[in-house]
Amino acid sequence: QKFVYDFSEGNKDLKDLLGGKGANLAEMTNLGLPVPPGFTITTAACKVYLESGAEPSALREEVSTHLAALEERMGKKLGQADDPLLVSVRSGAKFSMPGMMDTVLNIGLSDASVHGLAAQAGDERFAWDSYRRLIQMFGKTVLGVDGELFEEALEEAKGAEGATSDVELSADGLRRLVERFKGIVAHRTGRDFPQDPREQMDLAVRAVFDSWNGERAKLYRRQERIPHDLGTAVNVCSMVFGNLGADSGTGVAFTRDPASGQQGVYGDYLQNAQGEDVVAGIRNTVPLAELEELDKVSYSQLMQIMETLETHYRDLCDIEFTIERGKLWMLQTRVGKRTAAAAFRIATQLVDQGLIDEAEALQRVNGSQLAQLMFPRFDTDVKAERIGWGIAASPGAAVGKAVFDSYTAVKWSRSGEKVILVRRETNPDDLDGMLAAEGILTSRGGKTSHAAVVARGMGKTCVCGAEELEVDTKRRRLTAPGGLLVEEGDTVSIDGSTGKIYRGEVPVVPSPVVEYFEGRTQAGAEGADELVRAVHRVMEYADRVRGLRVRANADNADDASRARRFGAQGIGLCRTEHMFLGERREMVERLILADTGEERDAALGGLLPLQKDDFVELFAAMDGLPVTVRLLDPPLHEFLPDITELSVRVALAESRHEPHENELRLLQAVHRLHEQNPMLGLRGVRLGLVIPGLFAMQVRALAQAAAERKRAGGDPRAEIMIPLVGTVQELEIVREEAEQVIAEVEREYGVALALQLGTMIELPRAALTAGQIAESADFFSFGTNDLTQTVWGFSRDDVEASFFTAYLEKGIFGVSPFETIDKDGVGALVRDAVAAGRATRPDLKLGVCGEHGGDPESVHFFHEAGLDYVSCSPFRVPVARLEAGRAAA
Ligand code: ADP
Ligand code: MG
Ligand code: MG
Repeated sequence: QKFVYDFSEGNKDLKDLLGGKGANLAEMTNLGLPVPPGFTITTAACKVYLESGAEPSALREEVSTHLAALEERMGKKLGQADDPLLVSVRSGAKFSMPGMMDTVLNIGLSDASVHGLAAQAGDERFAWDSYRRLIQMFGKTVLGVDGELFEEALEEAKGAEGATSDVELSADGLRRLVERFKGIVAHRTGRDFPQDPREQMDLAVRAVFDSWNGERAKLYRRQERIPHDLGTAVNVCSMVFGNLGADSGTGVAFTRDPASGQQGVYGDYLQNAQGEDVVAGIRNTVPLAELEELDKVSYSQLMQIMETLETHYRDLCDIEFTIERGKLWMLQTRVGKRTAAAAFRIATQLVDQGLIDEAEALQRVNGSQLAQLMFPRFDTDVKAERIGWGIAASPGAAVGKAVFDSYTAVKWSRSGEKVILVRRETNPDDLDGMLAAEGILTSRGGKTSHAAVVARGMGKTCVCGAEELEVDTKRRRLTAPGGLLVEEGDTVSIDGSTGKIYRGEVPVVPSPVVEYFEGRTQAGAEGADELVRAVHRVMEYADRVRGLRVRANADNADDASRARRFGAQGIGLCRTEHMFLGERREMVERLILADTGEERDAALGGLLPLQKDDFVELFAAMDGLPVTVRLLDPPLHEFLPDITELSVRVALAESRHEPHENELRLLQAVHRLHEQNPMLGLRGVRLGLVIPGLFAMQVRALAQAAAERKRAGGDPRAEIMIPLVGTVQELEIVREEAEQVIAEVEREYGVALALQLGTMIELPRAALTAGQIAESADFFSFGTNDLTQTVWGFSRDDVEASFFTAYLEKGIFGVSPFETIDKDGVGALVRDAVAAGRATRPDLKLGVCGEHGGDPESVHFFHEAGLDYVSCSPFRVPVARLEAGRAAA
């Protein structure tokens, strides 16, 4: 096994082994770009070190060989007294973890070689500046000395010389500073700063390995879901110097704007500076465009290299470069991070440039980026007072009055106020308040904190971990930097897509992408937003290739119409329980209380025409497209008044000697229907089997509605769906009754109705016996919400807020199984049921309804499982279309 690769030996596809930085340094080297020579120690070496506590035995030898070759090539030896070769030792993992791990520059400088460097460069000041930087970085990251100590000494040195910035320090001042720094190291570590260059290098390599398991790095990996066992590579790269005077400098650049995707010159440059100086903000940088005036030759070369990189990587790249006395060096590149809007625009621009095809363009964007673009956002034209910046935990733009406890949140929202719940962190007791609030703001916790997880589950805007805000729940106020106060009742605005927090009300504008999906703006129209045009084109690519159809979950004609505008190809789930609420509740009560067949039939008879009218509207909105209607599913007690409220009513009436016979009967019914475990109780098909006439009424309403639409010249395509079936016998009984009813309606109206009848697969037993169930079903719809609950044996309503945070933190789930389908467990049942169902009935239609239908990762799973369609909430339809396209491309 080879542990060390020269930059000329690697390439960009070796990120697992060489890390992103190493792989791309190699790629640039092989492209003939000016990269300072060097080599990369592999992640494999790091893994051995992390597992065994020692470097692999072959490593020292291999490093020596590569170092010798580097020295040969550079014509000088590491740390050589009269002309030292200096190197940087740089971390670089597979996934970029900005600022999380360590890098040390100027390795090879010592009390002796600092003079050689000065003589070679003809610049005393530069040599001492480089040396003090080495001791500072090495002291801090390798030897673990508190960085503040160096900072303080540096400030004092500036003070002593009356310098306002580090460039004004004299050579002598820097030399004295080096002595101070060495003193700090000796005092703090009990040993002298190492003078042997190879020892410096070896210690630095080990420190980079160790930094993989630093607290910062671990936390970052947990948040970003990066596996903990990848390890980091280490790059040893010969130094080039941006701190050699005014004709030198260092900078960062993007090949196009990572915020908008626009082509142009984007970046920052800092004269006479080294490494981190640009991002550390110690002096003011200038926009990259100004480099053209400072150094035209390097500037033009840089522009050319950026073009080469874009063409080569066929994507936006970000780069780090340094100019040493007028000579340009490339120190890093990678395919750059970008905003959601930029991702869409860049993808289509690259298609236009002929750099990528449509299939590739689909891989360059994703559904969560599209979802982000669909949230309303703050009007950026309006000046707002930003008071903090936290972690963007759950997207959206929320405005409301600050409240500091759940009780107030609920109370105020009941009286019609919009509120933002502000907490240090949330816990399950805050649930009511979170539900009542427009958005949630916390000062502690990351993307997997309770607030973040629960808010995302609720689809609520959330900014968490805004650490610069001091939340004082006792005094009901928060303090922002500079002592700025926000008290209970003051309006705040939080942006869950950027993490920004404002005082006062920031106006919200609808997303231009939603305006487009709604059909209120046209992508082709003159002056159309460029982003909208890009989204439109990417959606076309997706629709062209996808195999999965996308339906919507919609219970009424309004939602159905909206879903259709968003591209839904039918309804995958219409829940009928919504049709039993409101004023109709009374009829449902009568149905439940019915003592005799006549009373029951009367109640059902009252519901029939109302249900029919609902269906007529729905079929009209979805004319020509399939509409799957689920017969009544929830336990009946959900339609009855709350038990406490009812008891109070009864008691009150009793004490006032008022008639209360009806209340009493209701109360008895509530007691009778009470279940320990309603989720597993009398619901779904079980209701249809024990309440005579209930399902028949619903089927009749459906059939009549279809018949009316047909008569009116429409094209209704109803599919009747039976919930919670566990065995084929249940389905057979319901089917027999339904077919009779349909036949009656067909005779009555004199039309033929091609109604389909199928079932949900949402119980493990249904999945396990899918082959039998298919004999009586025209279609299956996987109800993955209930299937997840019953396979895992936990109830979503109870557990998400209680132990999921702990499970996520312990890494038991990467993500909630209600958010993304659990492929190994629930997914295995789905795959088997698909196979068994199709074996019985090759033309069986297969779909999925439930939240997973709109979740990007789950959509890919359903594509692979061979389903015909997914169904999701209307708002998620575009996301599902896009992901279905990406899965197929
Ligand atoms: P990070 O991953 O934190 O960006 P890097 O390894 O890229 O860390 O290095 C930190 C800084 O030092 C960067 O600005 C980089 O350009 C600079 N740097 C690294 N190696 C060299 C080198 N050999 N010569 C000059 N500057 C370097
Ligand atoms: Mg870097
Ligand atoms: Mg269900």
